[in-house]
Formats: sequence, structure tokens, C-alpha cells
Amino acid sequence: MGLLTEGSPLSWEETKKLAPHVRQHGITQFINLYKKLRDREGDVLKWGDEVEYIIVKFNDEKKQAKVSLRGDELLTVLNKKELEDPNGVKSLWRPEYGAYMIEGTPGRPYGGLLAHFNIVEANMRLRRKEVTELLKADEAIMSITSFPRLGCEDFTHPPTKPTPDQGATRSLFFPDDVIFPGHPRFKTLSRNIRMRRGEKVAINLPVFRDKNTKIPIDDSYKHDRAALPDHVYMDAMGFGMGCCCLQLTFQACNITEARTLYDQLTPLCPIMLAFTAASPLYRGFVTDVDCRWNVISGSVDCRTEEERGLKPLKENTFVINKSRYDSIDSYLSPQGEKYNDIPLLYNKEDYQKLVDNGIDPLLAGHIAHLFIRDSVSLFSEKVHQNDEEDSDHFENIQSTNWQTMRFKPPPPHSTIGWRVEFRPCEAQVTDFENAAIVCFVVLLTRVILSYQLNFLIPISKVDENMQKAQKRNAARDQKFWFRRDITTHVSPPAAAECCRTGTSNCDVKECDMFGQMTVNDIINGKEGEFPGLIPLINNYLAGMDVDADTHCTIQQYLKFIQRRAAGEILTTASWIRKFVTEHPDYKHDSVVSEIINYDLLKTVKDIQTGDKYCPLLLGVSTMSKTKESIPSALSDDC
Ligand code: GLU
Ligand code: MG
Repeated sequence: MGLLTEGSPLSWEETKKLAPHVRQHGITQFINLYKKLRDREGDVLKWGDEVEYIIVKFNDEKKQAKVSLRGDELLTVLNKKELEDPNGVKSLWRPEYGAYMIEGTPGRPYGGLLAHFNIVEANMRLRRKEVTELLKADEAIMSITSFPRLGCEDFTHPPTKPTPDQGATRSLFFPDDVIFPGHPRFKTLSRNIRMRRGEKVAINLPVFRDKNTKIPIDDSYKHDRAALPDHVYMDAMGFGMGCCCLQLTFQACNITEARTLYDQLTPLCPIMLAFTAASPLYRGFVTDVDCRWNVISGSVDCRTEEERGLKPLKENTFVINKSRYDSIDSYLSPQGEKYNDIPLLYNKEDYQKLVDNGIDPLLAGHIAHLFIRDSVSLFSEKVHQNDEEDSDHFENIQSTNWQTMRFKPPPPHSTIGWRVEFRPCEAQVTDFENAAIVCFVVLLTRVILSYQLNFLIPISKVDENMQKAQKRNAARDQKFWFRRDITTHVSPPAAAECCRTGTSNCDVKECDMFGQMTVNDIINGKEGEFPGLIPLINNYLAGMDVDADTHCTIQQYLKFIQRRAAGEILTTASWIRKFVTEHPDYKHDSVVSEIINYDLLKTVKDIQTGDKYCPLLLGVSTMSKTKESIPSALSDDC
């Protein structure tokens, strides 16, 4: 989840006092990095995935499933292996916000060879196996985005109790003991976000209204003004940052390519969020949203009442319209400039300092904008730094701006180049699905760069899409703003021809450049209107020399993406909804009971291990449904 500085956290009052110090030095540190590294060239494509997991403990007698607070214990063992043999390990493990979470990545990045797509899923499986070996027989490591009964009575093992009157979170539902204990960052962030905001965070998700749903859904509104009666109310950072996702990081060949990738992937964020939607259940209720995004956004919303526009500005400088976890506010490439239609907030002096140091207005605006956020976690040992050598103050702010995309300068004194992170996707049940999504996005970046495609739409429309993406069944029902004319002079004929027949040549009305499309239109294409991402990828692959094995793997993945986009198979969120609402214990009251939670998670576990095959999620296959066939579940298509 970001920078893990060693040391002792400062109190909120001390941190607050030092906010201008962090800002001033953080910006200087970026300037110094930039001066040293702006001309860095010749890095090759490297990329990697990150999957966050939840450790679940089952009680088969009582039919209960709880989160197991053993993340720290497991990490001690996993990290020991890494320390002993840093270059030999096949996976790397890091803490995440929840005491029941861990995050895993491949031991080293993948490179430019298509053949690497053959090892992504195997590595994911190996990661799961590695952790499973450390688990008790009644535990499982699960890549589920939201734990359905997080924050319900007795949802942890060992048992914990919320402490509404004391501690970091002060939640009615989420105990501080459920925050990862092994590093002070997580609790400190929770406390400081609450203190900066001036009250607890508040998240209200509309409940899915079924025929027996009671309104108010519970009595939390009696305890908290912030709770809405027909919404699932959540009042802790853990409800958001306790969710899991699937992220990707790419190394670009230079800063220009990194800026292009950052921009071109931005309009794809809401599309991929809708496509990967996997989290309809929160705090034991079925909600009317399919994704985690707004939950996390609200869970780290440190804006004061003034900054949220609820009070006239007195102590703060700006009214800010988003939380520090949200979609990006500006494009970074020259091509993107004209689509930056949201006024970018920043301190003029910060911006000027960046510009005076030779940083162009687009990048200066981006960096200055990140720095409208105060530090919410500062360690005493790190207050005074050498701005020529260190970048901790910059990283402090950068790593607590959790946005759909992240633009990352090379760390000082390293062999790593300019990178971008792609952060919207939700975690899927199986390694097969996660690997398919990873390969699809990596292939898209290759297609974007090779054909110099242009996906840009006004940034305000990306924001609109982000909200649509989270609605129930968005992947099937919603129409998203998307660019019709994505071609440039090097784009393939298929794309160009399709777009010529559209309205794309009309530059009188710029808005005709953008249409409303479904996820299916965007991914699979729409005759005469849009070529489709999969056909573009296939066009690109047709010109490549690919070995039979790799070809087969890629085609399985693309087939799966195609089918899910077409609605032939369900999104994870739709499948979970279906499971819950068809469960015999479900009373049509929007409640996810302990037994439904247990059965759902048991089924998910069986699907992820391959003990059960789920055609609704993965597609129909003629292959035998054995464990080993899971990765090649769709291999009848090769
Ligand atoms: N768990 C967060 C999410 O689901 C991401 C935290 C991180 O940046 O690692 O988006
Ligand atoms: Mg993470």
C-alpha cells in the first residue's frame, strides 16, 4: 500500500505542523530527481502484477467463515525466505492494511517477450501454494475483493471488539486490532485521516432493495449522524483499504513513453473497473454497487468540512472535490493537454517552483496537485532529509495519493526507469482470471504504443465513467463515454477503416469524437462504429512470431475476456449476487447471513483451487474438470 518507512510515527499535531515542511522538501526532492533522470533513456519494457489476498478461517461445524488475523505471522516466514535469498525467490510478499491481508508479486519483473504470458498464471498459483503451505487446514488464502461480512459481529479470528470511544479508528464496527499490527504506518494513517478530517470517515452505500428489505437496514443511524437509513453505513478506513485489488506496473523506455502510457490507460480505468467488478457485498448486506472504488475513496477521505465545501474556507486553502483515493485529475502528455477540462487545484508557489526548475506546465501541475494533500503519516527519523539524495518526502505524498493511475519517477540510485501503475482492477477468484486480465492489459499497452492509438476523452468524462462503472451490472447495462476515432497515421487498416465510416472526421463538433459504448462494444467491437480492443490485439499479434504454446495461452485469455465482455459469462460481482440471492437461507432482505457467507466463501475456495469448476464464471469447457485443467479451462478453443 505504499512507503514503509522504519521508525516512530509522530503525533497528529506534530505531523500537521510539519505539513508545509514535507511539501516544500517533497517538491524539491522531485525537482532533484527530475533533473537527474529526465533524460534517462533505453529502459526496456518490464512489468509485474500485484495481487492482494485475504486469509479466511472456516469453521465447518458452525458453518462460519471469518478473517484470520495472521497476515503478520505469515509475512515473517515469507519475508525470511526473501532475506536469505533475495534473488532466488519466485515471489515477494508485503503487508497490506488489514491484519488478515497480504500482498504478493512475482519475484522479479516480466519482460518484453510474449512467452512471459506463459508464466504469469503459474507464478500466481505458486504464490497461493507457498502461502497455503503455511496455513492451517481450516484456513485459505483468497483473492476476493471484499470480505462479505467485514465489520459484522464477531467477524475475526481470534475475536476482536470495536472500540468506538478510543484508539485510531473509533469505529462502531471495525476494531483497531484488525489493522495490520506489524508496521505503525497503517494505524497512524487511520488516526491521522480521522483527525485531519475532524470526524470519522463515513461511507454510505445504497442497499440493494429486495422485496423484504427493511428500512432502516439497522440501527447504526441511531448512533451516528452520518449514517443514512437506507444505506450500508461504514465508518472506518478498514472497510475500504481492507479490500483487495489486482494492480499492474509497467516500466517505460523513457519519461515520454511513461507519460503516454499514463494518459492512454486512463480512459480504460473505468472500463476495466466495470469489467472486473467483484464486490457487491459489504458489512453483511447486498448493496446496489458492484465495486470497491467509492468505498475506499470514502474510507481515506481526510478532507475537512471546509475542504468538502460544507463550511466557508477559513483554515484551509481549497474546496477539493475528491478524496485522495480517486481517479486522476489531469493527463500528462502533450496530446492529453486539451482534454484536461477539470480545473487543477494547486498552490501557485509550488507550481511556480516546479516550472522555474525547468518542469513543463503539465507535469508541474500534476506534481503540485498531488501536494494539495497534507502528509498523514510522518516518522520522527525521517523529518530531516538530504533533498539531493532522499525522496521520502516526495514518496510520502505520492504514495498517499491513491489514484487510478500512478506516475512513478525512478527511485534514487536504482536501475529502475520511469514507471506507471494501473490500479483500478478488482481481484478475481481464480488465478486464471487474474492472469487473463493482466495479459490483456499488458497486450493493450503494446498495441497502444505500436499503433500509437489515441483513447483520450475529456477527463471529466472519465470521472463520469468511474461512477457509472460501479453501478450494479454496469459491465452489461451501462454505456460509457469512449473515443470513436482512436487512430493515428500508424494504426492498423482495420481500425482506420472502421473509424472513417463513423463521424470521426468531423472536427467541428469535437463531441462527435466520443460516443456512448457498452463494455462489450469497447472490448469486442461494434460493426461500423468501433474496432474493439480484442480485434486490435489480434491484429497486432498476427504480425508477431509467437510459439504455439504462448499462442494458445494468449488465445485462452483473450477468449475469456471476450466472453465475459459479451456477457456470455458473469462478472464476479454478478456471480456473487446470484449465489447469495439464490441461497436457501436468503430471505430476500438484502442480508448476507453467516451461513450464506460461509457457503459463498467455501464455493469460492473450491473454485480457486480447482476442486469445483464454475462455467458461469469461467465459461463452458469440454476439458475434464480436474485441478490441472483449471489454467487451460478453455483450451478447447486452441
Ligand atoms: N487495496 C487497495 C485497492 O483495492 C490498494 C492499496 C494499494 O495501493 O496497494 O485499491
Ligand atoms: Mg497493495
